Amino acid sequence: MARIVMKFGGTSVADISRIRNVARHVKREVDAGHEVAVVVSAMAGKTNELVGWTRELSPMHDAREYDTVVAAGEQITSGLLAIALQAIGVDARSWQGWQIPIQTDNAHGAARIQEIDGSDLIERFKRGQVAVISGFQGIGPDNRIATLGRGGSDTSAVAIAAGVKADRCDIYTDVDGVYTTDPRIEPKARRLSRISFEEMLEMASLGAKVLQVRSVELAMVHRVRTFVRSSFEDPDAPGMGDFDNPPGTLICDEDEIVEQQVVTGIAYAKDEAQISLRRVADRPGVAAGIFGPLAEANINVDMIVQNISEDGAFTDMTFTVPSGDVDKALAVLNQVKQTVGFDAVQHDDGMSKVSVIGIGMRSHAGVAATAFRALSEKGINIRAITTSEIKISILIDGPYTELAVRTLHSVYGLDKQ
Ligand code: ADP
Ligand code: ASP
Ligand code: MG
Repeated sequence: MARIVMKFGGTSVADISRIRNVARHVKREVDAGHEVAVVVSAMAGKTNELVGWTRELSPMHDAREYDTVVAAGEQITSGLLAIALQAIGVDARSWQGWQIPIQTDNAHGAARIQEIDGSDLIERFKRGQVAVISGFQGIGPDNRIATLGRGGSDTSAVAIAAGVKADRCDIYTDVDGVYTTDPRIEPKARRLSRISFEEMLEMASLGAKVLQVRSVELAMVHRVRTFVRSSFEDPDAPGMGDFDNPPGTLICDEDEIVEQQVVTGIAYAKDEAQISLRRVADRPGVAAGIFGPLAEANINVDMIVQNISEDGAFTDMTFTVPSGDVDKALAVLNQVKQTVGFDAVQHDDGMSKVSVIGIGMRSHAGVAATAFRALSEKGINIRAITTSEIKISILIDGPYTELAVRTLHSVYGLDKQ
């Protein structure tokens, strides 16, 4: 007997028949004698609809009320799944974040989980009851519902797995594992049987939305054995209930991976904007004067490129922000223009960031040069580059995203044979 957390994303619970199918996956594990907590997302499209309503009423809405609204999607699914389970003879009840409680900080809309009291859940496990938990939500220190940022149900699941000391956390979704790149963009993408925490963290941070970034961090810190697998397969197909080797991708330590490639995957993020400041005074404190206020305005600045000034007096500074934050960023920059001292601000929307990821890069030279050559052969212009030990990120014009992903996927030998 083991303790398992099973998480089902939006497309996996998109309608009543899919919820029935999820109930069968849960029943399989219960029948095998396991203690089960299920974490559910809102039905596909629900959260977007709810977010849209808050924006329609007021673009500058109260974040606490936003959370009250958007957390509702998960409440519906948890109740429906509990009913579906009861209907097939599985003892189950729904739990909202505040009932457990899942305690978060006060950052409404992007809250972080601080503590989970798993004692009530464990007591119910002992009675053979399945806990169906609303993902994406918890309760803040102000005693109000808080949500964990888009895609946050992954994080709920891993945090609960850590909180109840589960043996495994299965993230069920609409693909059967983590692929070398988004299989929707590159049909030649290959499924990975394992990926290291570090690489998954980079993939997720750089745009692969198959797991929320924070969920990977938590899995890494709390050593949660996490699998990504499909809810669309027949729940009773052979091997589906294999405890040690379930079908899917295991997120694990680097040393659990036998065959390490130089490049493991390609990620992309659309809707990036490039902002350039022209003739910035070249003196100490300038970067702090620009990026401090942007950070205070909660704007996520990513790639930063600063030129060496030719005359020792002025330089150019370029960086990227999510397209949705451009107006906010321009407003902040206008406020600091006088104190920092620069001539002009230029901006360009509709950029994409394409990234090559692999821990094998640490010990291999020439990985970046291969990417630059391959992109140039396709006539793709590179706007900016950033690198770390295990990744290279390249900013390009949005319309070239798919071509760039496929080109890089192929040049590093990741295509399925
Ligand atoms: P859920 O609703 O189950 O949380 P998401 O839509 O958040 O599912 O994440 C699954 C999606 O992530 C897939 O449909 C796929 O298009 C996308 N994706 C992006 N990159 C990858 C990747 N490297 N491997 C697998 N899926 C990926
Ligand atoms: N329903 C939320 C969202 O769409 C959380 C999740 O699905 O993980 O972002
Ligand atoms: Mg998701």
